[in-house]
Amino acid sequence: MKIYLPENVKLIIDKLRNSGYNCYAVGGCVRDSLRGVAPHDWDFTTSATPDEIERVFADHRTIDVGKNYGTVAVLMGGELYEITTYRIDGKYSDSRHPDAVRFSDRIKDDLARRDFTVNAMAYNDCDGLIDLFGGGQDLAFGVIRCVGRPDERFCEDALRILRALRFASVLGFTIEPETSEAILKQKGLLNDIAAERIREEFLKLLCGDKADFILRRYRKVISVFIPELRGTFDFEQNSRHHNRDLYRHTVAAVHNVEPEPLLRVTMLFHDIGKPLAQTTDKQGVCHYHGHQKLGAAMTREILRRLCMPSVFIDEVCTLIRWHDERFKPDTVMIKRYLKRLGADAMQKLMLVQRADILAQSPYMREEKLSNLTAVSEELNRIITSGECYSLRQLSVNGSDLLHLGMSSGIQIGQTLDQLLDKVIEGELPNEKELLLDRAKIMIDNGE
Ligand code: ATP
Ligand code: MG
Repeated sequence: MKIYLPENVKLIIDKLRNSGYNCYAVGGCVRDSLRGVAPHDWDFTTSATPDEIERVFADHRTIDVGKNYGTVAVLMGGELYEITTYRIDGKYSDSRHPDAVRFSDRIKDDLARRDFTVNAMAYNDCDGLIDLFGGGQDLAFGVIRCVGRPDERFCEDALRILRALRFASVLGFTIEPETSEAILKQKGLLNDIAAERIREEFLKLLCGDKADFILRRYRKVISVFIPELRGTFDFEQNSRHHNRDLYRHTVAAVHNVEPEPLLRVTMLFHDIGKPLAQTTDKQGVCHYHGHQKLGAAMTREILRRLCMPSVFIDEVCTLIRWHDERFKPDTVMIKRYLKRLGADAMQKLMLVQRADILAQSPYMREEKLSNLTAVSEELNRIITSGECYSLRQLSVNGSDLLHLGMSSGIQIGQTLDQLLDKVIEGELPNEKELLLDRAKIMIDNGE
């Protein structure tokens, strides 16, 4: 078994070996190489201690990224490579790092501490593949299986629960029954895990090819850290527009957008306000007035709790707030929205609405889709034509109004806004002279 190793990777292994230590590429890079995917980074495990690693790479820049945990990073060819001493991990009682790590001189110990068999293989050109836990076979059959006893491994570090789901989602693997049972049994331990760690794994999970399957099969695990989703489980919508319960509709909508965190997170929460917003009219028909606004507010809470960046939160919440807006292929209407939300959000809203429609029942689907196509076409036409919908594009600006004698910032802002509205409504062309004439009249009239 030979794995292709890039030059720098070989160099790192050779340097350590030539100094009397052993060293292997380990973990994700071995897994990905074996399944024919180019690794996005290379990690190393070695018998050398952190001090020894630094000495061997004295002629390179090294960075202490966690010497206490055995890891030194070496800068080579502009890239950072993490090299970690063989180690045995203790329990992760603070849910971030193992309480105590012990260094070891046996590769077996290091592989035994790793989470899943497919991630517990090591390789170098001299010793070949070191596969002590059947990772090669699990990889071939597409299986996620804990190294050792699943219950114990999840108790040591509950993040592994989410990592199992993440790998199953991304790689399209099935989770071996004992591992799967332990995931469901130990899911409550995720309550003790730092939000930042959950966030990283959860976003990867959501962007996996098989996210839909995992979100359905392991919804009880997901709802440990997002309990708000529980309201959508088995929630029937009693509407001709829907042929799935709310959670299944949600998951189908997640699957209908590109695997990109912003869109996937938006779809996961787009209807989260519905259960609380539900009202029933005299005919027994259910309505969800205000679910967009409520959903956006709930989502803000959830994403804050998961420590998502605030720009990301704002973008998601805007999309959720407007996801159900009934757009028409009407130039003025679209420009009003463009003014309010911007081009980027409007274009993303088109993707969100398409994903939502495709996750609804076939009732009126063709009409909904053809309207959306017409809206998208008009939206794109406006954006590419350069027609004015924003202050930035308006042919007059604040200093033009200053020259007309306006002095108050508020008044200038309001006047520009009114002029922009008139341009958008088609009452005025976007031409400087005409806009200034109108501004003068507005000043004279005290508008
Ligand atoms: P990716 O392709 O996403 O980087 P990866 O397998 O490299 O996948 P990392 O999070 O980079 O995942 O971790 C590197 C390796 O460290 C894993 O392959 C695994 O062997 C080990 N590992 C990471 N996190 C844990 C954990 N919580 N418990 C046990 N082993 C872990
Ligand atoms: Mg990695």
